[in-house]
Amino acid sequence: MGCGSRTDHYFKGKILNMISSKTSFIALIGNPVSHSLSPIMQNAAFKYLGLDLIYIAIPCKDEDLELVLNSLKKINCKGLNITIPHKEKVFNLCSEISPIASKLKAINTLKLNSEKEWSATNTDLEGFIYPLKNLNLTKKKSIVLGSGGAAKSVIQGLINLNLSKISVITRNKSSLDELIKNFENQIDLQSFLSNDNQAQNLIEEADLIVNTTPVGMKTAKNEMNLLPYGDSFWRSLNSKTIVYDLIYNPAPTHLLKFSADKGCMTIDGLQMLVAQGLKSLSFWTNGLEVPFHIMNDALKNHL
Ligand code: NAP
Repeated sequence: MGCGSRTDHYFKGKILNMISSKTSFIALIGNPVSHSLSPIMQNAAFKYLGLDLIYIAIPCKDEDLELVLNSLKKINCKGLNITIPHKEKVFNLCSEISPIASKLKAINTLKLNSEKEWSATNTDLEGFIYPLKNLNLTKKKSIVLGSGGAAKSVIQGLINLNLSKISVITRNKSSLDELIKNFENQIDLQSFLSNDNQAQNLIEEADLIVNTTPVGMKTAKNEMNLLPYGDSFWRSLNSKTIVYDLIYNPAPTHLLKFSADKGCMTIDGLQMLVAQGLKSLSFWTNGLEVPFHIMNDALKNHL
């Protein structure tokens, strides 16, 4: 067997992947969690690194969050991912919070610090940026569809990448105010309703469109063949626009198939999922790194 460290780790991992009385764990806390792909990709990464660690998903109701997080501090849990609906609620339960998590008002990763208290960060922003890093988007125009939790990481990511103008398009104005306030004075951020007459001009001119709505996601109701805001919303899309859909299941989404048919470059949500997962793993392990393809291949084999 070659002496490359990747191969050595892999075989070491295969042996250590047996659960023993020394095995510790990392968990995903949310509600629901049964759809999550994080256990698939994180367990593949732990195996690759040869860590005596497993990743599990724990469903947790709102009223149990404090009890669950406090209890996990006392047992063999080394870290957590936090997902919907707890990304904001965990703030009060953490003793250290990174600047980016504070700025985005959302936490997705925790680890125990030396005082056995939770230390928190947010890796969604870096996950979002990952597939865009090598594209020159400086001074380009972008559109963000939706104004929920993920939109905050997306807008911060677009600011970090120096885009010149961001237009947020939503179906109603109620969730927009806080979002706009969060990024005040940082960039030319405008908001529109999806039925606004200006929407067609914006789409025609956009260099990048990011879908952060859940429209097109695989659901029990089988509504995967829908485009966000309906078919006519997309009539002025042209081939120069990059279309980035945060949804990763199905892959590709109906929006990405439609956009590819128009000649657009498309980016799916799988890369963001993997990239945020790599950053979470590095946070838990104080800097260990795994090649992107280890997690990505595990997900592709699973989907
Ligand atoms: P969220 O906080 O619930 O926000 C969803 C946004 O979409 C809200 O602005 C909501 O508008 C809008 N929306 C919901 N249903 C809609 C519909 N039928 N038509 C038009 N707009 C609609 O959710 P989130 O956490 O931001 O997540 C959004 C999506 O991103 C999900 O599909 C999630 O899986 C995906 N995501 C992917 C990654 C990744 O790693 N790839 C990471 C995070 C999120 P209202 O305010 O009007 O309800």
